[in-house]
Amino acid sequence: MQKNFSIAIDGPAGAGKSTVARAAAEALGAMYLDTGAMYRTVGLYFLRENLLEDRDEIARRVDGLNVQVKFINGVQHMLLEGEDVTEAIRKPEASMAASAVGAVPEVRAYLVRLQQETARGISIVMDGRDIGTKVLPNATLKVYLTATAEVRALRRYAELRGKGEIPAYHCVLDDLVERDYNDMHRAASPLKRAEDAQLLDTSNLTLKQSVDELVRLARAAIGE
Ligand code: C5P
Repeated sequence: MQKNFSIAIDGPAGAGKSTVARAAAEALGAMYLDTGAMYRTVGLYFLRENLLEDRDEIARRVDGLNVQVKFINGVQHMLLEGEDVTEAIRKPEASMAASAVGAVPEVRAYLVRLQQETARGISIVMDGRDIGTKVLPNATLKVYLTATAEVRALRRYAELRGKGEIPAYHCVLDDLVERDYNDMHRAASPLKRAEDAQLLDTSNLTLKQSVDELVRLARAAIGE
């Protein structure tokens, strides 16, 4: 039987990490964990409490939070104090909230522990910002998935339009650029390509081409 494997995918916002990672996990028969959803859940909590500016209070309270990941029919659901917030965390204000709480070391420690526990003893594809550098330093394969900011903003814009929202393109682009900046310049686990990560630039690739390339890299690393 195939030994368990782990695949770490990092990269900036809107690079298509979650869509590509989910499809690759399915092709490889592995579980997929979206760690951004976990930061969004913690962000939503502190947004609702109106505490996003108060890093000390966030640090004090985060260990007492009840954040759970549940897989229902293979779909990842996020529970916050028992409430299913899977939809609520997709709002733009939850993205910024995630970026804010993600800069607090105590939040990272809390979520990294949860991510490592989830990965134990199974084959997994995980995506985020610090998966290759912190969460799964011994991953079977590390990939840094990226695309130009303009391409990423266009994709995010189309996704929001598909959900019936009518955002301004420049707002979507500004939001991505600001989040990239925050994620790459924070003191705690900034987003960066792990030294041993393969670069996958999807600017000129279709979704299918991106998935195929990731699966090809994964199979080579797993030794299939
Ligand atoms: O991937 P997604 O856009 O859902 O992530 C939302 C935010 O959560 C990111 O902008 C980043 O600030 C934070 N995050 C993180 N570490 C991860 C995953 C997400 O800091 N592993």
